[in-house]
Amino acid sequence: MRKQIVAGNWKMNNDLAQTESLITALKAQTKTSNAEVMVAPTYTNLFQAFQALKESDIEVIAQNMHFAENGAYTGEISASMLKSVGVKTVILGHSERREYFGETDAILTKKVDAALANGLRTIFCFGEVLADRKSGNHEAVVESQIKNALFHLEASAFKNIVLAYEPVWAIGTGETASPEQAQDMHAFIRQTLSNKYGVDVANSVSILYGGSVKPNNAQEIFGKPDVDGGLIGGAALNADDFFAIVNAF
Ligand code: PGA
Repeated sequence: MRKQIVAGNWKMNNDLAQTESLITALKAQTKTSNAEVMVAPTYTNLFQAFQALKESDIEVIAQNMHFAENGAYTGEISASMLKSVGVKTVILGHSERREYFGETDAILTKKVDAALANGLRTIFCFGEVLADRKSGNHEAVVESQIKNALFHLEASAFKNIVLAYEPVWAIGTGETASPEQAQDMHAFIRQTLSNKYGVDVANSVSILYGGSVKPNNAQEIFGKPDVDGGLIGGAALNADDFFAIVNAF
């Protein structure tokens, strides 16, 4: 059975006090699904969040990391630094990192390698832009993003990889991929994995959907057979909305 996962990506939101109050609100929620729940605060609030959620079943994860172990990389954070504050999972390749911070497939390959070498589980994000979808190129784009950053790995590495399909045109826009569009792409992703690594690996990897998931559409999206959960942006900033999504399975 694949893991069901709902991860909240808080992006560059919430200072320390706001982080504390959101965590307090999250701890007051009740989980009625089997989904693993994760939240990704900003770097500066990771330690605080980890301490506050230590006894809970909400995992604190990171939004990004650098590939180097340490050294002269002003402003960057390494895998071992994340581990030292309790982080076990890192999001890599988010479309905002690709678009605004120039993260290429080549950079992401190094980041994935560094995360896995440090024993961090990786939530690897990818997805097409609107022009790709309109031109019918979306499957080719997604296939190349996955192949370029992940297909040098051994099959065993996929124990520590979660995939997150996030069509860029659906992120923060209020426009969601239809449950059918999500299912079609997730099935294509699983087939792509299966072609390279075999059906057992393909069937064991959780594939999350991200892009304007809200309490009112989560159930329909999560109901699709190849959708194993969600990466949630805007709706993760409100504890009631986030747990409505967590409990949508
Ligand atoms: P959104 O963001 O839910 O606000 O669309 C999703 C994401 O960027 O992970």
